[in-house]
Amino acid sequence: MHELSIAHSLVELAMESSKNLEIKRVKALYLKLGVLSGVVKEALEFSFDVVVQGTPLEGAKLIIEDVPITVFCPDCQEAQVLPEPFPMRCPVCGTKTGQVLAGREMELYALEGEEENARTNIESKNC
Ligand SMILES: [Zn+2]
Repeated sequence: MHELSIAHSLVELAMESSKNLEIKRVKALYLKLGVLSGVVKEALEFSFDVVVQGTPLEGAKLIIEDVPITVFCPDCQEAQVLPEPFPMRCPVCGTKTGQVLAGREMELYALEGEEENARTNIESKNC
């Protein structure tokens, strides 16, 4: 399962980052997930809960923020956010476009520690 190996790398990345940020206990991981990333959100959440067992991150929550598709419309000369992944057309003028600016990413962007109850942004890394 694709999501299982992604969950493994997320846990590894979070452990490494929490060490660097001196977070003793990670409460939550914040992940940006593009609609076009090819990752099934529910499967990733499930895999994360499995993978995290027995690691220092056990009990941590995975909080996934969906990133909608943003395309560049050559007619409007503007970036447009698509309300639906398909069809890939400008929502304003209807022009077909394949220039995807956002929506393919998967990025672990913040960790939340237990003691200070604060979110710490980590150096972003695309998987
Ligand atoms: Zn347009």
